[in-house]
Amino acid sequence: MGTAIQISSLSKAFSHCKALQEVCLDVDAGEMVALIGASGSGKSTLLRHIAGFVAADVGEITVFGQAIQQDGRMSANVRRLRAGIGFVFQQFNLVGRLSVMTNVLTGLLYRTSPWRSLLMRFSTDERQQALEALVAVGIEQSAWQRAATLSGGQQQRAALARCLVQRARVILADEPIASLDPESARNVMDLLAGMNRQRGCTVVVSLHQVEYALKYCPRTVALHRGRIVYDGPSAALTPQLLGELYGADAQQL
Ligand code: ADP
Ligand code: MG
Repeated sequence: MGTAIQISSLSKAFSHCKALQEVCLDVDAGEMVALIGASGSGKSTLLRHIAGFVAADVGEITVFGQAIQQDGRMSANVRRLRAGIGFVFQQFNLVGRLSVMTNVLTGLLYRTSPWRSLLMRFSTDERQQALEALVAVGIEQSAWQRAATLSGGQQQRAALARCLVQRARVILADEPIASLDPESARNVMDLLAGMNRQRGCTVVVSLHQVEYALKYCPRTVALHRGRIVYDGPSAALTPQLLGELYGADAQQL
C-alpha cells in the first residue's frame, strides 16, 4: 500500500512556545491513527502542517510521496495536493446560511476551475454524488436545510460527506468529536472508521479522550509539549503508561 504521510524532523516555534519539536512520523496508506495529547501539546498545529495550512520552520512533509512543504517553503502545487486531503474541524466549518447540499458540494471546488467555483455551478452528476454522500452519512433528509439549523452531530456528518465528495484519500480530523454528545461522537467515529475500512482512506484523528483512540484506532501517536512521546499500539496505552508520559496532565486524557 505504501506510505501515505511522511514527516521528518518537523519543528515549529511560535513567539512564546515550541509548538512542534523534531517530529518524525510515517503513516501507511490505509491506517487509522489517533493523535492524543493534553490541550496545547501541538495536535492541531501538526495536523495543520500536514494539510499545508501552515509552514514549519524546518522539516519536511510528503503526502503520497509528494512534498507538501520543505524547510519552511510550501510546495508550489500545494493547492492541488490539498484536493486529496480532507480536513475535519472541531467546529464543523460549514457555511451556516447555505444548504447542507451546497456545503457538501464545496468538496468539489478543489477540482474545478477558480471561475467555476466562484459561480458555484454544479452538474446533475455532481449533485447526485453529493446526495449519495449524504445518504452514506445518514442525513439525506436534511439536504435542503440550512447547515446552521442542524445539530452538531449532523453538521459533523455533513463535513464527512464533504470529504467523501472530495474523494479525499487522506482525512485529517482535528478533535472532530470534542463538541458532540456521546452518541453523536460514536456515530462520527463509526463513520470515520467506515471511510477508513471500506473506502481505504488514511485517517489521522486527534482526540481528547484516550478511550476513543483505544476503541477506534489500532495505533496512537501521543504528543507532549510538541514532541512525540509515544507511537505504538493503542492497546498498550494503560493508565499507568499515560501517567508516566504525561504526569499530572494525564488527568486531561
Ligand atoms: P492542541 O491542538 O494539542 O491543543 P495546538 O497545536 O493548538 O495544541 O497548540 C500548540 C501550542 O502552540 C500551544 O502552546 C499554542 O498556544 C501554540 N499555538 C498554536 N497556534 C498558534 C499561533 N497561531 N500563534 C501562536 N501560538 C500558537
Ligand atoms: Mg487543538
